Amino acid sequence: MPLFEYAPAPESRDIANLKPSYRPFIDGEFVDGSGEQMKTINPATEEVLAEVGTASPSDVDTAVKAARKAYARTWSKMPGAERAKYLFRVARLIQERARELAVLESLDNGKPIKESRDSDVPTAAAHFFYHAGWADKLDYAGLGPDPKPLGVAGQIIPWNFPLLMLAWKIAPALATGNTVVLKPAETTPLTALVFAEICQQAELPPGVVNILPGAGDIGSELVNHPDINKIAFTGSTDVGKLIQRQVAGTSKQLTLELGGKAANIVFEDAPLDQAVEGIVNGIFFNQGHVCCAGSRLLAQESIVDELMEKLRARVSTLRLGDPLDKNTDIGAINSAEQLAKIKELVESGDSEGAQRWTSPCPVPERGFFFAPTVFSEVQQAMRIAREEIFGPVLSVLTFRTPDEAVSKANNTPYGLSAGIWTEKGSRIFWMANQLRAGVVWANTFNRFDPAAPFGGYQESGFGREGGRTGLEAYLSV
Ligand code: NDP
Repeated sequence: MPLFEYAPAPESRDIANLKPSYRPFIDGEFVDGSGEQMKTINPATEEVLAEVGTASPSDVDTAVKAARKAYARTWSKMPGAERAKYLFRVARLIQERARELAVLESLDNGKPIKESRDSDVPTAAAHFFYHAGWADKLDYAGLGPDPKPLGVAGQIIPWNFPLLMLAWKIAPALATGNTVVLKPAETTPLTALVFAEICQQAELPPGVVNILPGAGDIGSELVNHPDINKIAFTGSTDVGKLIQRQVAGTSKQLTLELGGKAANIVFEDAPLDQAVEGIVNGIFFNQGHVCCAGSRLLAQESIVDELMEKLRARVSTLRLGDPLDKNTDIGAINSAEQLAKIKELVESGDSEGAQRWTSPCPVPERGFFFAPTVFSEVQQAMRIAREEIFGPVLSVLTFRTPDEAVSKANNTPYGLSAGIWTEKGSRIFWMANQLRAGVVWANTFNRFDPAAPFGGYQESGFGREGGRTGLEAYLSV
């Protein structure tokens, strides 16, 4: 019997100002792309949201030429303090249009409105504010006496945080004096195209930002364009490897932010109720579509039973359903393909002998949904312990000693993030030194700040985004 019955609390979809069609943004104007029209759908209902014009290879060329012209004539010549004014303006406009962007993001992506409203959109604005502050201080950033922009950046982003990933890419590129051509993911192009409207509102000089909706082939076209100086990619490790091969032997700079299989490590002295909240946030935030998700829980053997009991009780209270309902904790899986991938990996967990527990929450019949799932008795060799599921599925392993925790946590081809839960400060420092992960959270998880660099080791990619270190990826120093 639930403690509370929740009344529906839907956010109005009218706030999204959804238009019947959207177009690519090149040289400061919305243009008819010469690629095919595509439809973007609401993954929670499977209804078509809008038609989107896509770019063709010739549009990629036009956009790169526009970005080059803007770079050479305007943007790279502009004093940093002037660039900063545009970035501050963009940040303010994101804040002004925050509700519209949040509802649109939830419609197109399937994520709960409370996440797009309280996390994605404010953090996107924060990235522009933060980088605006750097634009006139680059000479004093400790990156050499006279750092110079690289030129035109080609940027390719995934569907899990469409607006936020755009902000992670565009804000540092513009602050450092580069111009950009960005390709959003095929299934989530809408907030990027509203961002293009924001660029117009901010009177950003034409060509400084160009947005090209399209499929993977357009991303590939961008990577191969001879007049691109830098590629910044976030997405799957497979595509990251492909891109790395494509840019090998060229003078293009590259940063890759790829997949992960993070260990969230809970010691017996951890405050367990707090740890449970961190575990839930680590794997069920954004339906688990998070590259740094805490998808492997490593629990000390002495507390695993108690922890699992608390975890199941907590996960049973998560509300799955309409992303626009303000009480929803878990929204829709972004696409039918991603849902099929999650189901396939979950079946492999069953057949390899792990114990599956699924929340008894009701699951809507229409749309792409997957109930939160926890696998216990997971062995390191199982696919669910090794592969990125990118869904609301947690794999639980156990350990006895700190050394064993470290060796299990590091037993992965990835290395993006990790979490440590313990009362002992000395253990936190010791563990953090041993873990091969770009970000290590202690007694918390999935905390982001524009000032904190983010990036991976090994197959999670290379280069850092955010913070002073992230500026370096867009500068010749
Ligand atoms: P992809 O790596 O395919 O997509 C990321 C971006 O790259 C999209 O914009 C995509 O376009 C584009 N792209 C695809 N192929 C190419 C190419 N050959 N050259 C240049 N750009 C390309 O990820 P998926 O969306 O297919 O997701 C697959 C898996 O990747 C997920 O299940 C998850 O495990 C992982 N993933 C990891 C992410 C992370 O943040 N680390 C983010 C997203 C996915 P398009 O959208 O048209 O395919």
